[in-house]
Amino acid sequence: MILQVPVTAYITTNAYFFIHDGDQHGFLIDPGAEADRLYRIIQEHKFTIERILLTHGHFDHIGAVAQLQSMLKVPVTMSEHGYEYVENPTWNLSESFGEPLTLSHVDYLVDGTIISLKETPSFQLKLIETPGHTTDGAIYYSKSDAVAFVGDTIFKSSYGRTDMYGGNEEMLFASITKKILRLPDETTLLSGHSDPTTVAEEKKMPWYAEDRKDVIPII
Ligand SMILES: [Zn+2]
Repeated sequence: MILQVPVTAYITTNAYFFIHDGDQHGFLIDPGAEADRLYRIIQEHKFTIERILLTHGHFDHIGAVAQLQSMLKVPVTMSEHGYEYVENPTWNLSESFGEPLTLSHVDYLVDGTIISLKETPSFQLKLIETPGHTTDGAIYYSKSDAVAFVGDTIFKSSYGRTDMYGGNEEMLFASITKKILRLPDETTLLSGHSDPTTVAEEKKMPWYAEDRKDVIPII
């Protein structure tokens, strides 16, 4: 089961529950705000969250992590480059909103790491680094469920901004064309700030063409 929960503090970000239907264990991806509401959802559905996974360290994706970390007592996982953001309120942009935010006790994982449920290891996500929007950008991909949680790397008919700390446009387009769009066509792409899309749909965009810069980044 996948549950998409838009959460808001300054801006709205999609948090996702990726839950194994057999035992309701699973992962919470990008809890960017509204920790109390996310906690209530966990209790109502009787979910057991084994890990919090972060696609990158921007404040609108990590805002509820510290509170949920203490409520749930679960590990928090992100790319090995994430410390540049979660330990630095300037880079994670929280400082510019007047509420400096840092995280500690984060597991930094290398590209290609498989993250599995303890008792159902076949229920898993693969961390794939997709830098460009940030240096620590990563997606979480499930081949068996044909889904990828893509953060702010790619959106429905758009892509992530590259004009903030650590952003790099060439790296972003390389991440999109060489990694995300090489996943199977039927893969659903669930982003931080748009409706769902698919690899097949996004292949119709001018990602590979010279006019690709006519596509406007949305956030
Ligand atoms: Zn972002």
